[in-house]
Amino acid sequence: MENTVVKISSLVKRYGDLVALDHLDLEIKEGEIFGLLGPNGSGKTTTINCLLSLLTFDKGEIEIFGKEMTPSSYDIKKQIGVIMQNVAVFEELNVYENIDYFCGLYIRDKAERKRLVEEAIAFTGLEDFKKFSPKKLSGGLLRRLNIACGIAHKPKLIILDEPTVAVDPQSRNKILEGIQELNKNGATIIYTSHYMEEVEQICTRIAIMDKGKKIAEGTNDELKRMIKNTETINIEVLGLDEKITGEISALPHVYNSEYDGAKLTVYCSGGKHNLIRVLDVLQKNDIAFGRVYSELPTLNDVFLEITGKALRDKE
Ligand code: ADP
Ligand code: MG
Repeated sequence: MENTVVKISSLVKRYGDLVALDHLDLEIKEGEIFGLLGPNGSGKTTTINCLLSLLTFDKGEIEIFGKEMTPSSYDIKKQIGVIMQNVAVFEELNVYENIDYFCGLYIRDKAERKRLVEEAIAFTGLEDFKKFSPKKLSGGLLRRLNIACGIAHKPKLIILDEPTVAVDPQSRNKILEGIQELNKNGATIIYTSHYMEEVEQICTRIAIMDKGKKIAEGTNDELKRMIKNTETINIEVLGLDEKITGEISALPHVYNSEYDGAKLTVYCSGGKHNLIRVLDVLQKNDIAFGRVYSELPTLNDVFLEITGKALRDKE
């Protein structure tokens, strides 16, 4: 049995009348890349801030490495690396000096610190930017600096709060690969995001949050097995009448379908050859169609089935 790294029990956090966390329970084991997935405002950052004792909370308990976390738990804090949602670096210091500053909060020995700072620079691919002021860095490079500052001291637990927001695809991939490598090297990771694709890609276990509550938890596969959707069929097709859409809705294993005049979407649960059956109806009615594609369930479907709304927000 792996060790528990973080245990959150029945955590309640209110901001005035707003219940930001509503009896949240989380248990994170050593070696996991644990994903906290939820739309904006679901309580991810509040969870992280409570976890770090940066915020007081109304009810509940938090244990890290088997001990109660309090504002003065310096022995615990030393072993945590935090990459906050809002980039926090000093504009007066260059890239190297920033990493050295944060690493210096934990590591006194100069030679060791130099080695660790250089390692963090290489790890985040910032070799060519050591002397740069943060003001001169692109969004992606600034994120990488933020990460380098959080991990240089080699923490056992690394918490990243939405580290890929407003980041170009190249830096995003570098960040995601970097997180997996940190994990391979032994760190337990807590990763928050509202991008389901990223969470699917890197997380070993996922808690889905909505309105301060955990609405589902499991591995990527387990979460998808919780829902009835097994396949979503999309067909670009014009001019379907109600008789035809009715025939399609009545097919076996079809539990829902939508037609917007240009695209037909058919939601299926179980069964084989669903696509063939749908196309068969179109053919029988002599309807020509364009692009056809079938999608496996995503974490968005999980969110949709549980909450009745889409996880993905328009960006
Ligand atoms: P997330 O990180 O998932 O986007 P947050 O934890 O930031 O969510 O926010 C959860 C809820 O708490 C939101 O409704 C947000 O508006 C509210 N909230 C967050 N911080 C504060 C604050 N300092 N004061 C009042 N309300 C807040
Ligand atoms: Mg947040």
